[in-house]
Amino acid sequence: MPSDSVLRLVWIYPDLLSTYGDQGNVLVLEQRARRRGIAVETVHVRSADPVPEQGDVYLIGGGEDRPQILAAERLRRDGGLHRAVARGAALLAVCAGYQIMGSTFGGEEGQPVDGIGLLDIASGRGAARAVGELVAEADPALGVPTLTGFENHMGVTRLGPGVRPLSRTVVGTGNGDGTEGCYAGRIVGTYLHGPALARNPGLADLLLTWAVGAQLPPTDDTWFERLRQERLTAVRPA
Ligand code: GLN
Repeated sequence: MPSDSVLRLVWIYPDLLSTYGDQGNVLVLEQRARRRGIAVETVHVRSADPVPEQGDVYLIGGGEDRPQILAAERLRRDGGLHRAVARGAALLAVCAGYQIMGSTFGGEEGQPVDGIGLLDIASGRGAARAVGELVAEADPALGVPTLTGFENHMGVTRLGPGVRPLSRTVVGTGNGDGTEGCYAGRIVGTYLHGPALARNPGLADLLLTWAVGAQLPPTDDTWFERLRQERLTAVRPA
C-alpha cells in the first residue's frame, strides 16, 4: 500500500455471515489503523453485490450452515475475492468463513459442500458441537501472544501441506486435531469469535502489517490486555 493512500477494508457478506460480533473485527482494524495515522475506507459487500478487487484487507465471518453454503456459491461465482488474494490482499476468515476458504465443508446434513479453494484445508462434521472458550498458543513465527476466543461449530478441519497451523490448542477444540486455525501467505483462518481481533490485537496488527508493508508503531493496549488476561485466568487450566 503506498504511504499516502487509504487502507481499504472489505467486509464480505454481512447479510449472510456475521455471527458472534464478527463485524467487530472490522471496527478493530479501522481503529488500530487510524491510531497509527492511517486513513481507512470500509466497504460492506452484501451477497447480491460483486466483491471489489482493490481492497487491502478482506474480512469474512461465521454463520449458520445454509447462509454458509450460499456464501460459498456466491464467492465462487463472483471471483472477486480470488482476484484480490492473487493480487496480495490480506484476508481474515472466521469459522464458517474459514471453512469456506477450503476445498470442502460439511453442509446442514453433513453433506460435503464445495469450498472456494483459497486455503489447503478440508472441513467436515465432527462428532459433537464445539462450544465454549478457546485458548491457543500462536505459531512463534507470527510473534503474536496467546490467542483467546469463543468457538461454536460442528465442523472439524484438516490442514493440508499448503498451510501452517495458526496455533496449538490449549483449551477448546479448534480444528479438532490439537491445532487451531491456519495461515498461508496473507490469509488467516480461525474458529475464534469474540470478535477475534478485539481479543487478540496482535492478530489485528499482523494483518495491518501485511497490508501496509511496514512495521506499525506501538499503541496503548491496556484494555485489550486486561480483557485477554481476564479470559486466560478464567479458562486456562492451573
Ligand atoms: N456452520 C459451521 C459449523 O457449524 C460454522 C459455524 C459458525 O460459523 N459459527 O461448523
